Order: sequence, then C-alpha cells, then structure tokens
Amino acid sequence: MLYRELGQTGKKVSIIGHGCEHLDGKPYEQIKETIDAALEYGVNIFDVFMPGEEIRSHIAKALGDRRKDVMIQGHIGATDVNRQYDISRDMPTVKRYFESLLRMFGYIDFGMMFFIDSEEDYRGVFETDFVTYVEHLKKQGDIRHIGFSSHNPVTARKVIETGLPEMMLFSINPAFDMLPSEHYVFDYSEKGFGSDMFRGIDPERAELYKVCTQRQIGITVMKAFGATKLLSPDHTPYAKPLTVHQCIHYALSRPAVASVLPGCQTAAEMRDVMQYFSVGDAEKDYAEILGGVRNEFKGNCVYCSHCQPCPVEIDIAAVHRLLDTARLDPANIPASIRGQYAALGSAACIECGHCETRCPFGVPVAANVKAAAELLG
Ligand code: SF4
Ligand code: SF4
Repeated sequence: MLYRELGQTGKKVSIIGHGCEHLDGKPYEQIKETIDAALEYGVNIFDVFMPGEEIRSHIAKALGDRRKDVMIQGHIGATDVNRQYDISRDMPTVKRYFESLLRMFGYIDFGMMFFIDSEEDYRGVFETDFVTYVEHLKKQGDIRHIGFSSHNPVTARKVIETGLPEMMLFSINPAFDMLPSEHYVFDYSEKGFGSDMFRGIDPERAELYKVCTQRQIGITVMKAFGATKLLSPDHTPYAKPLTVHQCIHYALSRPAVASVLPGCQTAAEMRDVMQYFSVGDAEKDYAEILGGVRNEFKGNCVYCSHCQPCPVEIDIAAVHRLLDTARLDPANIPASIRGQYAALGSAACIECGHCETRCPFGVPVAANVKAAAELLG
C-alpha cells in the first residue's frame, strides 16, 4: 500500500481506501471478511456515510480493537428517516444520527458535512445552526477534521472558499470530468452517458482540482467507476470499457487526490482492486481511451503519463499538476507547491520532443516544463 497526505489534515491515508456503502444489507460475516481483507492490504480509511444502525454497528464490530488503527470518514446530515438514504438539515435529526455514529466509533476522524451540491444545500449548511454544530464537534474533539461531500464543482468551490473544510469527498471519474458542469452527474449515473456530450475535461472541474491543490484541500474519491457504468461494455461512453485499475489510476492522477474509495462488497472484490499495485503501467494507462473522444480542450494535460519515459527522467504529469496550480495565481504561488516542485528534483528539459510525439492531447510539454522551471524553480 502507498499512503498520501490528505490536505490540511496532515493525515496519511492509504491511496486505496474503502467506501463501505455496498456492504449495507449484507450479512455480518461478509462485512467482516471484506474489512479484514482491506486491513490486510493496509487500507486505513473507511467511508461510513450509511445512516442505518445495523450497517454502522456491523462495521464497528468488524473493526473491533483495530478501530484505533484506521480513520473513519463519517457524515453529518446523512439520515434514513423514511427508511432510505436521505439528507437532513433538521438539527435534532442531524444530531441524533451523528451522535449514534460517535457512540459506535468513539470519535470520527473526518466529520463530513454531507452532500452539498446545490445552492439550497449550501444555504442549509452555512446559513443555519448546522455549521455551528460542526464547529462545536471539532472543538470538542468529537471530529478531528472538518470535511464535506459534493458532486458539483461549482458548489464545492464555494464551500472551499469559506475556509472551513480541510478535505473533501468528491465524485471523480473520466466521464464525470468530461461532463459539462451545467449537467448534474447523478442524472447520468442512472441513465448512462452518451459519448456525443463530451467535449474534453470540464474547465470547472479541472479548476476545482487546482484550487484544492493551491489551498491544500485533500480529496477522497467516490464513484471512481461511475456506478460501474464505465466498466460495462453496454454502458461505456468510450470505444471500450475502462478497467477498475484504469479508473483508480485516473482518479489518483488528479491534483490533490489522496485516496480512492471503491465500494468493494466482498473480500474477493477487494483482492481484485488491490491488483492495482501489481499490474503494469500499460494496464493502468487511460490515455488512449480518453484520447478517442471529442476534445475541445486539446492542449491541456490530463496527467496520464502516456508521454513517459523522458530521457532526463522528468515526471511530466507531476510537473504539469504543479504548473497548472501555479498558473491559477502566479503572483501568489503557495510555498507547498514550490516545495513539491523542488522535491521532484527535475532536470532541465533537453527539448528532445519525444514526449510531445507520444502525448494524445497535443500538450506543448517542452514549453510547459520550461515555464514550470521559471515559475517554480
Ligand atoms: S522534451 Fe523535455 S520533457 Fe519531453 S521527453 Fe524530452 S527532455 Fe523530457
Ligand atoms: S503531457 Fe500529455 S501524455 Fe503527458 S501526462 Fe500530460 S496529457 Fe498525458
């Protein structure tokens, strides 16, 4: 397992975590086996958004003493008042559900303001007692860090700009990233995607990831497989389905992403996902699939590393992640970005041009690498 720092929280999370949603309703033995498998692979972050008593308590029981070795991403405002997943901003209800989660796990590592997608969601959190409650939880030590979940890049950015959250759970996969931000991703989780709607990585989403890097908002990722539609030959919007490992690699290549949380339902699924660490680079490469769709934003790096190897060993995708972030506000480049650039120890580009012939997205790599050296070196 590899670990990455989760934004301002400073916590080192496993790059593959576990979104436990699909364990809901499963027998306890299956839940325990799946969690045991995750722990054997070094998973140390678990998302528990599900509001049901039974699933929450089964996860807590399966972890047992090992609770102290992992981090729980628990959601404030997730309820099942009508026996189905629901969002609540009614404070007595919010408190009842969250306090039951606290009793089961003792404390919550990442206290997530649940599901802030629309303007109404935003107002329901930031213009009510909800936000006061969240701040109180942190002050008490009941939650160690404040986060939030969202599927909407515009609203997510607005939440980040409040300065309150330290991290975010966001839905990321190639299809969502290519969906123009005026479309709502959930509309397509159900009915599927049409390849004709894609026009390249949506600028709002690309910008969100850069802002997260700039402000050190760590991202954990949900919906990395697009509710499995991207894996299916019948539903993929691309020339062929993506693999689990391509989807994980895509999400992990976005700036600021620390951990992807697949919703494994069994120990066998967990083992399949963990093959990510043993398959070769070619099996994780998603460039060819993305390169086949209409792309109005040609020239922008998608951090796929298809251009490697570079004869002087420049990590081209990593340089572009930092350069794109620096270009957001060149006069105020955060020290963390300069530090990360220095840590790459990039050699000077010899302008051989190999990378540009391999890049499917027409990125002017040599010029960008030079610009990065000037801005960040
Ligand atoms: S042009 Fe520069 S960045 Fe690209 S492969 Fe050659 S040396 Fe590396
Ligand atoms: S320069 Fe092109 S090939 Fe290299 S990481 Fe960026 S998009 Fe991929």
